[in-house]
Amino acid sequence: MAYLSNPTYTKAVLEAHGFSFQKKYGQNFLIDGNVLNSIIDAAGITKDDFVLEIGPGIGTMTQRLCEEAREVVAVEIDKTLIPILDDTLSTYKNWSVINQDILKVDINKLALEKNGGKPIKVVANLPYYITTPIIMGLFESHVPLESITIMIQKEVADRMQEGPGSKEYGALSLAVQYYSKPEIVCEVPPSCFMPQPKVSSTVITLKCHNNPPVECDEKLLFQIIRASFNQRRKTLQNGLSNGLHYSKEQIAEAIEKAGFSPTIRGEALSLEEFAKLTNVLKEL
Ligand code: SAM
Repeated sequence: MAYLSNPTYTKAVLEAHGFSFQKKYGQNFLIDGNVLNSIIDAAGITKDDFVLEIGPGIGTMTQRLCEEAREVVAVEIDKTLIPILDDTLSTYKNWSVINQDILKVDINKLALEKNGGKPIKVVANLPYYITTPIIMGLFESHVPLESITIMIQKEVADRMQEGPGSKEYGALSLAVQYYSKPEIVCEVPPSCFMPQPKVSSTVITLKCHNNPPVECDEKLLFQIIRASFNQRRKTLQNGLSNGLHYSKEQIAEAIEKAGFSPTIRGEALSLEEFAKLTNVLKEL
């Protein structure tokens, strides 16, 4: 069986179907078998697993997922890729494709239908232009998730792992760490893709928590986090006074009760400290 991750085979498939790359869809197809093996290994897929793949392209990863998993559903926005997938994956019976924008797919419904509502695995070489909305969408809509193994832009992967004190630390770092444990798998140079992207990439696995590592009102927690980082240069007190439905005095009282300095900035707080502030504010 010839694998698509072979660059010669990939080129032949693209030529046979007269495929033209669409820049607007972030199409950079993987042509490196070693990287593909690392992704599949990191995802730890077994024959019990239902896997959601986002953006299958010509099926390079889908092919391997079909071999490892019980069932694969791929969501692909570009309709010109659908007949190509039908061709490259014709020998497999355990896959299907949804021709839609992933941001419009009801993934909760899919997980219920295909996996009885049990946690699913997501695997993807993501289109970089919508990495954050895709990940945040999965988390915030409370899709039952076991893990998300994804190729993303290196800078974004770095941001996911940061903590207080780093200038890359922000709302994405906190959201990722609230919902999961991020683990870097490998870094991937532009030469592993066709066409080559301008940036370096990283494969990262987000192992999703059964229960969040902190206890507090999730909605208020993320309102506080967003308000803090929207006004990054301001003190926490000023940032939150503008961004939340609490008075300046209530915010000042909560910051004091939580034991923080009145001049502290949001970027200095850890997830546990944001949760503490959330609980104090909630009780005012
Ligand atoms: N998985 C393939 C691979 O590794 O070679 C392709 C990866 S390519 C970086 C991203 C894929 O996502 C493309 O096939 C692109 O058409 C698709 N895509 C882009 N935006 C999408 C969206 N909003 N919803 C679903 N698929 C999308």
